[in-house]
Amino acid sequence: MIKAPLAPLADETLADLQAWQGEVDGAGDYAARIEAAEAQFKRRRPQVPFRPVLVALAAMCSGSRRCMYCEDNCADEVEHYRPKALYPELVFAWTNYLFACASCNRRKSTKFPLFATGSSSVVTFARVNTKQPFPPPVGASVLLDPRQDDPLAFLRLDLVDTFRFRAVAPKGTVGHVRATKTIEVLGLNERDELPKGRRAIYESHVSHLHRAAAARRDPSRSAEVARVRAAVQQLSCGIVWHEMKRRRDDIPEVRAAFAAVPEALGW
Ligand SMILES: [Zn+2]
Repeated sequence: MIKAPLAPLADETLADLQAWQGEVDGAGDYAARIEAAEAQFKRRRPQVPFRPVLVALAAMCSGSRRCMYCEDNCADEVEHYRPKALYPELVFAWTNYLFACASCNRRKSTKFPLFATGSSSVVTFARVNTKQPFPPPVGASVLLDPRQDDPLAFLRLDLVDTFRFRAVAPKGTVGHVRATKTIEVLGLNERDELPKGRRAIYESHVSHLHRAAAARRDPSRSAEVARVRAAVQQLSCGIVWHEMKRRRDDIPEVRAAFAAVPEALGW
């Protein structure tokens, strides 16, 4: 997970979203608004006027349209950061949209842990009555939002051994809770394929840097460095590259690889 660069949305599309949101907001009580949110999103999502939303979300993904959470699988599901089943008032809110893969979307589902007001303890909201639901309590969100948060400030990736994440902040802090809860809810460490994928990407980046270093020493291969740069930017798991740059002084092979291609620090 890395911070998603915000892509613009045309005024016309924003107006469409606002109009559809108005239909949901006017549907009646909270239970009726949840039902309307589900139905209207199912209806609008495949329609032509919604397509610019998908194009903008795709432009915000890293690599070749990778999921904004795991950065491994292809992003093909519009993910509501605040679930539409809990927050019908945000079902068509552009700022609430992410692009995610089916695995991440399914894991997160309607889970949306919150901080109890004024504290660092987490409220696990549970709906006790699906026929007469009540809104979630007010509180700051716990899960990292790649639109708003810089995941690198919260997550540290082990590039030497496990290729798993851990929290940057010490235990007992809000930052630690946000990082560990995000890792847990999305299964960023426990899904076997994810650490394996990050390890493969790391090895690929090291090889790419060696190739770029060789190419920049040979004038007949001058175009190759640009190709390597493009390849690095298209690989999945963008956080691996960012972490390699951040931690290069701690890992001798990474330090040596960047020293041979110093401009790669700007890639
Ligand atoms: Zn994912």
